[in-house]
Amino acid sequence: MFRKNTNLPKRMLSFIFCNLFINFVNYGNCFLNFGVYSMHFEPFKIKVVEPIPVTTREYRKSKLKDAHYNLFLLRSDDITIDLLTDSGTGAMSSKQWSAVMDGDEAYAGSRSYYKFEETVRSITGFKHIIPTHQGRAAERILFSILGGKGKMIPSNTHFDTTRANIEYTGAEAFDFPTSIALKTDVLADFKGNIDIERLENFLKSHSRQEVPLIMLTVTNNSGGGQPVSMENIRKTSEIARSYGIPFFIDCCRFAENAYFIKTREKGYETKSIEEIAREMFSYADGCLMSAKKDGLSNTGGFIATNIDDIAEKAKVLLIVTEGFLTYGGLARRDLEALAVGMKEALDEKYLEYRINQVKFLGNELLKRGIPILVPTGGHAVYLDAKRFAPHIPCEQFPGQSIACEIYLEGGVRTVEIGSLMFGKYDKDKHFVTSPFELVRLAIPRRVYTNNHLEYVAEVIGKVYEKRDQLKGMQITYEAPYLRHFTAHLEYLQ
Ligand SMILES: *Cc1c(COP(=O)(O)O)cnc(C)c1O
Repeated sequence: MFRKNTNLPKRMLSFIFCNLFINFVNYGNCFLNFGVYSMHFEPFKIKVVEPIPVTTREYRKSKLKDAHYNLFLLRSDDITIDLLTDSGTGAMSSKQWSAVMDGDEAYAGSRSYYKFEETVRSITGFKHIIPTHQGRAAERILFSILGGKGKMIPSNTHFDTTRANIEYTGAEAFDFPTSIALKTDVLADFKGNIDIERLENFLKSHSRQEVPLIMLTVTNNSGGGQPVSMENIRKTSEIARSYGIPFFIDCCRFAENAYFIKTREKGYETKSIEEIAREMFSYADGCLMSAKKDGLSNTGGFIATNIDDIAEKAKVLLIVTEGFLTYGGLARRDLEALAVGMKEALDEKYLEYRINQVKFLGNELLKRGIPILVPTGGHAVYLDAKRFAPHIPCEQFPGQSIACEIYLEGGVRTVEIGSLMFGKYDKDKHFVTSPFELVRLAIPRRVYTNNHLEYVAEVIGKVYEKRDQLKGMQITYEAPYLRHFTAHLEYLQ
């Protein structure tokens, strides 16, 4: 090609070849590195920035008091690094923003819906795709159909809103994590699995009418963001089929889970993330999704299922309380963002960076001797409050005390996942604590750099150094469901 249409002098030609060669070597190395080493920089560049507030300890002290020591009641303008949740807090890509502009805001039959439907179907394989404004709307609809008094719904670990939506209908939610999941200091590949034996025993001792649904949360959010193996999903599916019970996946973090399967489970090393995700869904009869997680969007969700009867009932409820079938409570432009986001979440380079960023924060904390749940999970690092502040009994919410002090120390917002979130009152009004006492540091997708996370580790390191001074807390106000969102607390003296 060069010879044909060029009359450049020889020197020039060799210069070009030399450069091509260098480039080839560079690119070659570049790909090689990604194969051999882990992705250690962000696979994107930053196009828009938002300044973050920096405040004083005195200021934060007064704000925390005004918020009744509940971090959900703080204003985000008073927070420096916000690790409260990874839900809807991610940064959208330029492709997503351009899709937003292309949204077709028709009430019925919007082309944005059809794009969304096609994407969700191509990943999940399900027949009915029903959009909702977020995950809990999907939960409310599904449990309005399947829940009710006397019904029992087992899972590896139900998420807080899932549990609340089940209990709100009068049904009971059961968690069957494996015994290793409770050991925060023991390394294992799939600590998110459901305990198959406990599930089978449970099914043997209850009638088919009592158990309308079996669920798996992937990754297991309340259990430490830990993945569920393909084998465990397959076995759960086999059991569900043998009992004739529908099996649904709470699939908020399906892409992160698929990445863990690829990197940890035998036989999946060479499969693409999309193939793995498709196989995961192939074992289920349906799924519930909060697209604010692996949909890489700021809002959205859906129910997808192959069961016609459930879908028909869900569509009726959707129209009554959410919106028409082709938007389900979302602006159509949100469906556009979601259709692009669901695909971007399947990108292996993105997932490698994502999982490694979580691991980076985990390692920074471990370096400082801070007790965390290991191995680090898909979307968050969890401090083990029982080991962090063993002098505070679980009834006095050690996790909340740590979370408050982290905010006071450096303006970092985290969330307690322990007895404040999951503690219950038994029939005699005795308080039953949660099996876990954790503080979750959830990492928003594509938002913070590792410098931000290093600062977080420094702040927590300082809190850890003076952990003996942490005080227990008590609740002074609570709502009957999802108390942690609105509760008021105070320090015990
Ligand atoms: C976030 C989440 C939900 C609820 O979704 P929202 O969009 O917050 O309503 C349900 N299940 C799991 C596992 C979640 O992480």
